[in-house]
Amino acid sequence: MYDVAQIRADFPILSRQVNGKPLVYLDNGASAQKPRVVIDAITRAYAEEYSNVHRGLHYLSNLATEKYEGVRGTIARFLGAADEEEIVMNSGTTEGINTVAYGWAMPRMQAGDEIILSVMEHHANIVPWHFLRERQGVVLKWVDVDSTGALDPQAVIDAITPRTKLIAITHLSNVLGTVVDVKAICAAARDKGVAVLVDGSQAAVHMPVDVADIGCDFYAITGHKLYGPSGSGAIYIRRERMDEMIPFMGGGDMIREVHKDEVTWNDPPMKFEAGTPGIVQQIGLGVALDYMMGLGMENIAAHEAKLRNYTRSKLDGLNWLQVQGTTPDKAAIFSFTLDGAAHAHDISTILDKKGVAVRAGQHCTGPLMDHLGLNATCRASFGLYNTEAEVDTLVEALELAHELFA
Ligand code: PLP
Repeated sequence: MYDVAQIRADFPILSRQVNGKPLVYLDNGASAQKPRVVIDAITRAYAEEYSNVHRGLHYLSNLATEKYEGVRGTIARFLGAADEEEIVMNSGTTEGINTVAYGWAMPRMQAGDEIILSVMEHHANIVPWHFLRERQGVVLKWVDVDSTGALDPQAVIDAITPRTKLIAITHLSNVLGTVVDVKAICAAARDKGVAVLVDGSQAAVHMPVDVADIGCDFYAITGHKLYGPSGSGAIYIRRERMDEMIPFMGGGDMIREVHKDEVTWNDPPMKFEAGTPGIVQQIGLGVALDYMMGLGMENIAAHEAKLRNYTRSKLDGLNWLQVQGTTPDKAAIFSFTLDGAAHAHDISTILDKKGVAVRAGQHCTGPLMDHLGLNATCRASFGLYNTEAEVDTLVEALELAHELFA
């Protein structure tokens, strides 16, 4: 049974007060809180197990290497990757997408080649492609969402031309909560010889992910949203794509031999992991993923689906509040605006006074904000430890904000 009270007890920060009120943490889309097991693992790693990895022959270096390398297998299991060598460990999604932009796309894309993006991408999955547009004349093609925030996979498939080399698409929108049928997109793209990069930063937090079933070439995740430390993360890279890639960053660990006039690379995935990695961060991520898998991704998804339904029913009753993104199977992520002149920042300040933490602004999604014709929204994004009682507190705080700004 999914015992949310017991789960909440695993997260020390959830019992604190903010502005004299119990914390209601609804900013999980930005970054999630950490369970005690992750905090303890970080402390233990520094207190008892710490050394640099891959380089030493002494006891602690071997121990740290074993712990760090063990996480690769945990990530592979979490993502359904058949081979842990298809997992490149890194500092998060931004680094993962840049690894693909510099290592795979730049060397093979010419002026006039095309990358397809959805209008709801996060800047992390936009700006690296702008580098290719600016530097190499690559064309960015945008696919819109409909008025509910749904993305028709066929619209993405129809946008493919003989010049398309890559589709870079989110699995789950950090603003609308929309889930994208990336499996359908990957199947069609594969038939046409087009690679697909999936931004799984949000999806991997809320639903089971199986990269083998999806059939993607690249799948990026970021540890701090997965109840793990900031500065941790990974990208799944299909083996044949790895073989096509050049390294993005150069330095220690990613080489085999370095001479004055010659350098040879380490085997993948090490070839794509330059320098001393986030050793302890990554160890913490492994523990966080084990924690999530221990709860069961299906169970987390079911709990959050109930929260989504409850939140939707409550927010639907507020006729002065507009939710962006209304697809029935969306994640429990609610971006909204209030009637009247109140800016999202002002609303979030009122909510904060009631202990409710939400995010306000553009959520790193400039093209989506342009598409919606909005400057900013407030976003309440739920996680595995949130409750219906917290939804009620959110609604009370929103009613107060409405009264103040009406
Ligand atoms: N993609 C999506 C959909 C996100 O929500 C985020 C973070 O907000 C990112 C990418 C970037 O993640 P990070 O900043 O951890 O690299």
